[in-house]
Amino acid sequence: MTFVKGLRCRECGRPYPAEALHACEWCFGPLEVVYDYEAVASVMSKEYIAAGPSTLWRYAPLLPADAEGAIDLGAGFTPLIRADRLAAELGLSELWIKNDGLQPTGSFKDRVVSVALTVASKLGSKVAACASTGNLANSVAAHAAWAGMKSVVFVPADVEPAKLTATSVYGGTLVAVQGGYDDVNRLCAEIVGEHPDWAVVNVNMRAYYSEGSKTLAFEVAEQLGWKAPDHVVVPIGSGSQLTKIHKGFEELGKVGLVDSPVEVRVSGAQPAGCAPVANAFSEGSDRIRPVRPATVAKSLAIGDPADGVYAVDVVRKTGGSIAAVTDEEIVEAIGLLARTEGIFTETAGGVTIGTLVKLAAEGVIRADERVVCYVTGTGLKTVDALSSLRPTVTIPPTLEAFNQAVEVE
Ligand SMILES: *Cc1c(COP(=O)(O)O)cnc(C)c1O
Ligand SMILES: [Zn+2]
Repeated sequence: MTFVKGLRCRECGRPYPAEALHACEWCFGPLEVVYDYEAVASVMSKEYIAAGPSTLWRYAPLLPADAEGAIDLGAGFTPLIRADRLAAELGLSELWIKNDGLQPTGSFKDRVVSVALTVASKLGSKVAACASTGNLANSVAAHAAWAGMKSVVFVPADVEPAKLTATSVYGGTLVAVQGGYDDVNRLCAEIVGEHPDWAVVNVNMRAYYSEGSKTLAFEVAEQLGWKAPDHVVVPIGSGSQLTKIHKGFEELGKVGLVDSPVEVRVSGAQPAGCAPVANAFSEGSDRIRPVRPATVAKSLAIGDPADGVYAVDVVRKTGGSIAAVTDEEIVEAIGLLARTEGIFTETAGGVTIGTLVKLAAEGVIRADERVVCYVTGTGLKTVDALSSLRPTVTIPPTLEAFNQAVEVE
């Protein structure tokens, strides 16, 4: 059973049944899942969660599908690492890294895909599809393989080669489109029109897909001993993840799992080469002006982000900020995290750590706050961004050569 009451338009509030729907018929606003929080609170105790699986399905009462029969490759429950060395560099007292590079396909997208495809399969869908900047396609192809569904995934032709390989290997159909993500997304919206029975996870399954990101909040609170952090730093592509992390913390307050009111400051991270949400924030505007992306952080290269306005709203009302970091700062931040904490993140994580560095230096993130930084993907899929890194030395296999070339200390 689920605790879903239905869907609701975020703009005009009209109710809809919990089906594969794209947007509000009246105002084209995005749809959101509505729960019966009283009923959730009556079952979802800390003990109930602790007795559940070590995956995101332990939080099923606050998800749009039951754990029974879930498409579960093991997404969720990634480590939350106390980052004292990095904190010391930045003058912070308590910093944690949520390491979603350790998901089954190496990015947080496994959370949203596990949830979206579980709902889709319960609705009878046989084909899984998506428009992706790379990681989503990777995850959809893997989960579809596990579930025995067909997959048809679309990416910009210039995504990182490792993401193409890591997607092709699952045997579905991988369509490389000559264009940017915004072109890919437009094409996918047309394809849904012709194939309404396909589950296009970020189009007609978007309301369910985005719910998966709430588990990034649920897990952090549980891993902190059922406490919400003071400040979180979250990367922004479409803006969905950021808004849903905020929703996740609010829901924990609603069902009594953390103290309410929940006051988590939410800050956002964008690459300077694709910063439409950061621009709107710094201009004090409520409108997102689309941009043409040019950044090494390809998983965040969305020029016209679907949830951009909602992300700006969350950041403003929680007293957070949004920074934009250059390609050089991204590469430097990847190295900083690796050297101080032993975590190798992809370029999107470099954007988040780069933003953490900036906001700590500006005093926006205060030294006394308990801070959680969401590192959303593994570095192994974006090694091209670090192509200047080489072995320290290359030597013939003799002790003499080693002693001559290397001095440790
Ligand atoms: C997709 C993605 C994001 C951005 O998530 P949105 O919900 O689109 O804002 C961040 N990091 C990684 C690694 C991603 O793949
Ligand atoms: Zn509406």
